Amino acid sequence: MPSGPGSWSARTAGSRGSGGWSSIGAGRADAFAQDVLWCTLSTPPEEPPVRDVRVYRTGGGPVLVYGSWPNRIQIGWTLPHRRYGHIAALGLDHVKERLVRAVPRYATLIRDQIRTPADLGVLDVFSARAERWVADGLVLIGDAAHTHSPIGAQGINLAVQDAVVLHPLLARALAEGDTSAERLAEFERRRGPDIAAVMRMQTLQSRAILSQGAFTTRVRPRLTRALRHTPIYRKILQRMAYGNPSIRIADAGVCGRT
Ligand SMILES: Cc1cc2nc3c(=O)[nH]c(=O)nc-3n(C[C@H](O)[C@H](O)[C@H](O)COP(=O)(O)OP(=O)(O)OC[C@H]3O[C@@H](n4cnc5c(N)ncnc54)[C@H](O)[C@@H]3O)c2cc1C
Repeated sequence: MPSGPGSWSARTAGSRGSGGWSSIGAGRADAFAQDVLWCTLSTPPEEPPVRDVRVYRTGGGPVLVYGSWPNRIQIGWTLPHRRYGHIAALGLDHVKERLVRAVPRYATLIRDQIRTPADLGVLDVFSARAERWVADGLVLIGDAAHTHSPIGAQGINLAVQDAVVLHPLLARALAEGDTSAERLAEFERRRGPDIAAVMRMQTLQSRAILSQGAFTTRVRPRLTRALRHTPIYRKILQRMAYGNPSIRIADAGVCGRT
């Protein structure tokens, strides 16, 4: 998990300056093109867990609410790039009350748990993909290879899936003593299309979340509620949130079974 507030995506793709790799933000695609004011709050144990991503629309930028384990929620208030400075200048209480207006359901948690500006993080959100993921003796996976907008909260799933795909390839490459870029490129060939598909989907989702109008604010939430208990909803969720369904952690090749 991320070790602290900062850019959701700034740790991207070859950003650690190894020769030949791109600088921070390489392959940056401003699919989301927003800053996100971010905080994590503890919820009372009796509060039912949030199992999906909820979008609250305030007129001041959609607010995303995610469940986080255990008994926590993450709140992300989307703001146009560099807008937060103006809002922060009005003081922490002002920021908290704006959040309370956006998600009144969590008013008590916001008022009680956000005590200093350090309880909030401002993330410059963008998705990005390293120009290449392999070199001789080196493979990038997870955030090092590709980062994503918070929509769908997919970074962890995708990083784990990368590891699952890479493991057998790497084990074979090591056993055969060939860890050349050509050999390791198999990983990028296998995984690249999955990541490209997620990025395309996130671009569509960003447009949908940031769009305005009666369909977005009234019709779509009702449609979503109506679809929630149907197989179509599960199919869409699978596509949006869980990446390539053919990647299974329990595969024999990964667990060392034959
Ligand atoms: C505020 C925030 C909230 C997020 N919430 C979600 C969410 O709800 N769901 C979700 O799916 N994704 C979320 N993400 C994205 C998710 O955290 C990442 O996509 C995911 O952690 C990527 O996994 P990773 O293993 O590639 O990188 P990381 O989890 O960042 O792991 C990299 C590790 O390497 C260590 N490291 C770094 N440099 C060195 C070094 N030089 N030597 C040794 N170790 C080093 C780091 O300390 C870290 O432990 C969030 C990101 C942020 C910033």
